[in-house]
Amino acid sequence: KEATHKFVYDFTEGNKDLKDQLGGKGANLAEMTKLGLPVPPGFTITTAACKVYLESGVAPTALSDQVSTHLEALEAKMGKRLGQPDDPLLVSVRSGAKFSMPGMMDTVLNIGLSDESVQGLAAQAGDERFAWDSYRRLIQMFGKTVLAVDGELFEQALEEAKRRRGAATDVELSAEDLKQLVEQFKAIVGKQAGREFPQDPREQMDLAVQAVFDSWNGDRARLYRRQERIPHDLGTAVNICSMVFGNLGPAADSRGGGTGVAFTRDPATGQQGVYGDYLQNAQGEDVVAGIRNTVPLADLEQLDKTSYDQLMQIMETLETHYKDLCDIEFTIERGKLWMLQTRVGKRTAAAAFRIATQLVDQGLIDEAEALQRVNGAQLAQLMFPRFTSDAQAQQLGWGIAASPGAAVGKAVFDSYTAIKWSRSGEKVILIRRETNPDDLDGMLAAEGILTSRGGKTSHAAVVARGMGKTCVCGAEELEVDTKRRRLTTQGGTVIEEGDLVSIDGSSGKVYLGEVPVVPSPVVEYFEGRMHAGADDADELVKAVHRIMAYADRMRRLRVRANADNAEDAARARRFGAQGIGLCRTEHMFLGERREMVERLILADTESQRDTALAGLLPLQKGDFVELFEAMDGLPVTVRLLDPPLHEFLPDITELSVRVALAESRKDANENDLRLLQAVHRLHEQNPMLGLRGVRLGLVIPGLFTMQVRAIAEAAAERKITAKGDPRAEIMIPLVGTVQELEIVREEAETVIAEVEETYGVDLGLTLGTMIELPRAALTAGQIAESADFFSFGTNDLTQTVWGFSRDDVEASFFTAYLEKGIFGVSPFETIDKDGVGALVRSAVEAGRATRPDLKLGVCGEHGGDPESVHFFHEAGLDYVSCSPFRIPVARLEAGRAAA
Ligand code: PEP
Ligand code: MG
Repeated sequence: KEATHKFVYDFTEGNKDLKDQLGGKGANLAEMTKLGLPVPPGFTITTAACKVYLESGVAPTALSDQVSTHLEALEAKMGKRLGQPDDPLLVSVRSGAKFSMPGMMDTVLNIGLSDESVQGLAAQAGDERFAWDSYRRLIQMFGKTVLAVDGELFEQALEEAKRRRGAATDVELSAEDLKQLVEQFKAIVGKQAGREFPQDPREQMDLAVQAVFDSWNGDRARLYRRQERIPHDLGTAVNICSMVFGNLGPAADSRGGGTGVAFTRDPATGQQGVYGDYLQNAQGEDVVAGIRNTVPLADLEQLDKTSYDQLMQIMETLETHYKDLCDIEFTIERGKLWMLQTRVGKRTAAAAFRIATQLVDQGLIDEAEALQRVNGAQLAQLMFPRFTSDAQAQQLGWGIAASPGAAVGKAVFDSYTAIKWSRSGEKVILIRRETNPDDLDGMLAAEGILTSRGGKTSHAAVVARGMGKTCVCGAEELEVDTKRRRLTTQGGTVIEEGDLVSIDGSSGKVYLGEVPVVPSPVVEYFEGRMHAGADDADELVKAVHRIMAYADRMRRLRVRANADNAEDAARARRFGAQGIGLCRTEHMFLGERREMVERLILADTESQRDTALAGLLPLQKGDFVELFEAMDGLPVTVRLLDPPLHEFLPDITELSVRVALAESRKDANENDLRLLQAVHRLHEQNPMLGLRGVRLGLVIPGLFTMQVRAIAEAAAERKITAKGDPRAEIMIPLVGTVQELEIVREEAETVIAEVEETYGVDLGLTLGTMIELPRAALTAGQIAESADFFSFGTNDLTQTVWGFSRDDVEASFFTAYLEKGIFGVSPFETIDKDGVGALVRSAVEAGRATRPDLKLGVCGEHGGDPESVHFFHEAGLDYVSCSPFRIPVARLEAGRAAA
């Protein structure tokens, strides 16, 4: 089969839909060729060939012959042979996987040059300097990427040559200098690689192809794939393309040329126009490497009008063809324009929204397609506050944009100071070389976190994202000295403890002083403080408004909010919530009410307990009245008390010390002693697996019925006195078996019937359960017999399915897990489809089998996570519930899932 398999495609044979075989780059080169655009001829070796090589260690036997056939055809087309001594055909060899992948071999240019053919090239081009420069580039790139020679060695030699010549740039080096450099480079290769630089052009090509294959399994490439969940067995394609030269001299010369990159519209705003950079007398890598200064693409019109006009024409063709912003690499050789690459271009979040609506207006795409052009992560990014403008601010340096947002505060260098200062009302930025679990409280206290070491999966980055704190990490040019409490920039600026700094978690930039922060216009819009309809409305706001309307029209999932007070409920409603999916009632027992809960826990007799409950009842009822009012006409799921009771009691150590001190002074108070006893009695090794959820309701008589009564009475009052439309749903947490639910249900129904009779109303209350334990999911069919609805508590479900403590892991071993690529993202952030997700799916099926009209939702954090929302859509849930600020993201993603 292998012998007859087609492993090589000419650019004229492929098209853009063959990304699986030809990779992204190859497929797009073929597409441009098909469109009749000027692409230098070439061919692509497929991913299938790479796969055979990776599996067996050798390239498929048929490959060499097929490459020869295509190479011969290419040579015939170009009228010269690869590396032909008197007039060499030169090619580039470029990797190109289906997904663009950092960490893989990129490009080797000028393959085909040798000691002999460099002379031929010089003669043909009439330019010695150019030929020797091309040769030294080949040895440099080949040495580095194919023979794994340390690239620094070449750089040093080049720098040295420039210094000798007193040259600022490499263009000033003479042919003679470059000849010498070639000798030096060859010596470096010989010494470092243990072999000579190959003089046979076909050997050069074959080795470069093999290096591309090998780079698929490089460490960084593997890690990237694990993190991005790209399968390891896809393999990469290899593109072999005839060389064109932009470095044959500047445009003023009749042979003139250069190279550039261009976008079909502004990747920052989406505006149509001429965007890009051009570099005269240069090869493509010079632009990317930023070695010399480029000029704006618009200047090309003056330099070479014919090429410029042609480029504009091609850009229009590409936009209409791909129906999207494209980015382009091109080269002009002796006044002839060549297209070297195109792809659908990267863009900022704001541009993504604007471009999507622009393309709808142009009639190029429809609403469903527009939804695929944006995503929830981009929307979330647009909702962070940002710095007004950094024009005035002095930039101290930059690092990795690890967790978005704009944070300003006084520099502190240890967690203790961060906590101390923040308690006295100061805003602080915690600056560390790197963070560790001991820094957790300090990170919580800080406005933002800045580290000089570590990447996107470092402790600081992972924890900050989890906390929603702004974080810049790995700012390596900043030297952090925690002992002396100072930070020194490369330029020598010193920041001492207490100095103001500003960090931008979206761009990674670090500034001196306080940079003013403005709220996001997108949030202003969702809050109703900015209107998309106004003529002078922000273009971004207009675009977001339209995209949200597309999503709302398209989506099947409803979106509710996790909210426990009227204020959050009202915000959620402004943001588009269609009800509350989770009201955590424990939040109603904090502050001054904690003491009442304490009394309930300490009650020795039935009457003490009843008194305590009677005290709580009106307070609870008042809370619900407010909540039902804010969500009038929409469902409100109220969850009965869930957390372990010790959370309402003083800390065991603090209390023990207080009591011990009091005892030593002989003035211990009775209440403290009883409290300490209770704390000891309720102390658990694993409180999250202990006395909590429905178990509380079953062992503390009257607790759940008090809550049910408060809900029912609040609903009755809203209905009768305010003529409102309360739609309460009562939810029982942490159920593991239907028996638990049955008992609670029976008690609740009795109370509800009583209230309904007293008030003379029908409340239409429903009773359901959370599915947050594996056993609940596994016995969902039975549980549905007693439940009107299920709400998946995927926080606890993830914790119990994995056996990971949700409160501890992010700070302890998740960094290591992420770095090792065991998972690309925390399963507490994005639903683990294979494990937790499988349980969700089977519970949905079993639940609906028992009760076809069972209402199904999710209220774990995953309800606001983009990827998870798609999963819940596919799993057939009715709604997702998430924190108020995530609601727009969930609406958008629900729309995208259905589009
Ligand atoms: C859950 O477990 O997913 C849930 C929503 O409940 P909580 O986070 O309050 O435990
Ligand atoms: Mg839970």
